[in-house]
Amino acid sequence: MTSTSDHPKEECGVLGLHAPGREAARLAFFGLFALQHRGQESAGIAVANGARVRMHKDMGLVSQVFNEETLRTMEGGMAIGHTRYSTTGASVLRNAQPVYCQSLVGDIAVAHNGNLINTRELRQEMEDEGEHFDSTSDSEIIARLIVRYLDEGPEEAVRRAMARIRGAYSCTVLTPTTLLAFRDPFGIRPLVTGSLPDGGTVVASETCAFGPLGATVERELEPGEMAIVDARGVRYAQGAPMVRPAMCLFEFIYFARPDSTMYGQPLYSVRERMGARLAREHPVDADIVVPVPDSGIPAALGFSAESGIPFREGMTKSRYIHRTFIQPDQSMRQMGVRMKLTPLAHHIEGQRVVLVDDSIVRATTTTQIVKMMFESGAKEVHVRITAPPITHPCFYGIDMASRAELAAARMTVDEIREHLGATSLGYLSIDGAVGAVGKGRDHFCLACFGAGYPLAVPSEVHKTALEEDHVGVMAAVSSGQPKLFDS
Ligand code: SF4
Repeated sequence: MTSTSDHPKEECGVLGLHAPGREAARLAFFGLFALQHRGQESAGIAVANGARVRMHKDMGLVSQVFNEETLRTMEGGMAIGHTRYSTTGASVLRNAQPVYCQSLVGDIAVAHNGNLINTRELRQEMEDEGEHFDSTSDSEIIARLIVRYLDEGPEEAVRRAMARIRGAYSCTVLTPTTLLAFRDPFGIRPLVTGSLPDGGTVVASETCAFGPLGATVERELEPGEMAIVDARGVRYAQGAPMVRPAMCLFEFIYFARPDSTMYGQPLYSVRERMGARLAREHPVDADIVVPVPDSGIPAALGFSAESGIPFREGMTKSRYIHRTFIQPDQSMRQMGVRMKLTPLAHHIEGQRVVLVDDSIVRATTTTQIVKMMFESGAKEVHVRITAPPITHPCFYGIDMASRAELAAARMTVDEIREHLGATSLGYLSIDGAVGAVGKGRDHFCLACFGAGYPLAVPSEVHKTALEEDHVGVMAAVSSGQPKLFDS
């Protein structure tokens, strides 16, 4: 499947609901709908009614996977849900989530956002002990570990599983009577709890899932923390010792929806501040500030406010092009970014343009947009980017690119500028980006910006991934079998 996007791709969104007396699956549907941006290739909901866990999942968008009929059959007051940015190939549906596991002490379902880095050894060890896996996903390892210890109670089972797994994980787990949510000891991927208006608890990757449910934010789970929700209410406990907070900086820059809050900060405002800092770090004499829609809009507004250069829309984005199962043909593919963005030439012509976007990965899309600006009559195009240069691959659940593909890993900033055909190029610094959030560097994962991996990546994986094809290596690490990532 070909995408015109050159952005890093988030892997998943997770959700959990404890809504006694209500149709939790229906609530989960609307919550997942709000998490659709975190994954568009498969969706699933598991529901519990106190006696058993049932599940429905399929390939496609949330609105394609569920309809009135499927939701009507999913009875119960507790649910978990998952949206997945996934893989291509024959095993796709098998890897869709939630993962469902049967056990003698009750069935469970698990939804996972992130990526484990000790998948290969854990899977080998468990297979040697006679475990049979239905999928190639690392999430099934988490589910099967929890099931192993379930006779000790769900809370202890999660704690025992957390002691074995290493990597990035924010998970929701459903047993017939309990909802659990937990976050890795670095808190790399987000997870937040909220309160439902008529009583009950919701937990989600992002607070934007709370809006449609009328829920209010309770709090973000701490690194290593878990929430246990059952008939007695919600309680929090440490599942594994916190190492240090290392939340993914990219959530703040691009992945998470701008109407979500993280570290208590509205992300729209964070991105505006990033734009303002960008204007201070890389000032330019120009006529208009143009965002790359939609993700570049808040930063462009911040840049404009700080610099005094007027904000102007320079292109429109098709609202309805998102992941589709219809592939463009070859001639359409060559049109590239024009499938998605159309220039507003009458705004651009004769202008010195500041073009604001969130990130440059391979530089393919930005190159096409710069070209489009000049073809529309721009006199100058000054590219300003809120993500610092991406020099290293991500091992914690983001499909980025191999190191060889990353523009900033193989070119200097001036070489990238030349490659883009831009008049000038400026990236926000790491300190500028974290400063816009209002936290120090020690609160973030900054690994893909070259600031070191918070959680050591096994050396053989790391070395190979940096030298060869990261995607292939991570596929092997995460699944034990080759699989292809869409890009
Ligand atoms: S390496 Fe980059 S994308 Fe991956 S978790 Fe860290 S900051 Fe996020």
